[in-house]
Amino acid sequence: MNNIIFGPIHSRRFGKSLGVDLSPGKKQCNFDCLYCELAPAPTMDAYVDVVSVEEIATAIKKALQEHKDIDFITLTANGEPTLYPYLGELIDEINTFKGDTKTLILTNAANIDDVKIQDALCKLDEVKLSLDCATQKCLQKLDRSHGGIDVENIKAGMLAFKSKYNGPLIIEILIVKTLNDSKEEIGKINDFLLKLNPTRIDISSIDRPPAYAVQAVGYEELLNISHLFDSSLPVYIASRKKADMKASRYNDKEILDTLDKRPLTQEDIEALFDEDSQNRLENLLGKAKIKRVSTNGVEFFKKA
Ligand code: SF4
Repeated sequence: MNNIIFGPIHSRRFGKSLGVDLSPGKKQCNFDCLYCELAPAPTMDAYVDVVSVEEIATAIKKALQEHKDIDFITLTANGEPTLYPYLGELIDEINTFKGDTKTLILTNAANIDDVKIQDALCKLDEVKLSLDCATQKCLQKLDRSHGGIDVENIKAGMLAFKSKYNGPLIIEILIVKTLNDSKEEIGKINDFLLKLNPTRIDISSIDRPPAYAVQAVGYEELLNISHLFDSSLPVYIASRKKADMKASRYNDKEILDTLDKRPLTQEDIEALFDEDSQNRLENLLGKAKIKRVSTNGVEFFKKA
């Protein structure tokens, strides 16, 4: 089957990434998120359409021969990759031939309380878990989770996984207007993330046509939401739409106050600060009033 592999996709964060679709035939997911890029589909708790480990491994090997210098092999799916029944075996097989190429999974984390899934994910170089909601009501409304999935089990599973995983653990939060952008919901996600202490937290909003009629929040709203998180948490605004923000003038004190509230990336700085203000920031950097901190490939500017 030749639609197992997609890409390589180039990104600042992951370099040259080869996508591996563990459900190439159809959408198979335990969520039916309102914002999904795929068409709505009934949820399930196990794949009914399963490709063999051998077929997937052969497709990856062939792609690695065709595309040199791949930085990441990214396990994903038309749906949820941890529902793939041979995930542990597949990762073991990939680890026999991947060499220096890193492995990553993008998962909705609904199964992270399953010890078998935790053990499989421990064999990957990087793990990205989604957490859109900290309450069951939000999970059911926004992610339209399969019956029996409980947000408290997801949170407990994430904590258990973090305690045994040595690699970078990234949390992804997708914000949808009126559904998970309230102070209350973000406050609860924040409280949990303070316990989890992930490597980085990426917040973003919808940037492709969603399955249902829901609305994105803009960069400015994401920035306001990022301020609701504790300033010790490495929150990164991963939105691709930053152009809706007009760059403003900041004096030295305003730059330092802004970075004190929330460390910013170069992309944020380009979106927020006009050219003079960016020069002032460089100056403050030279005077060691600001420092650069790197978190798993993303560089933040922080008040020193
Ligand atoms: S978890 Fe991913 S694939 Fe599944 S419904 Fe949500 S967005 Fe779509």
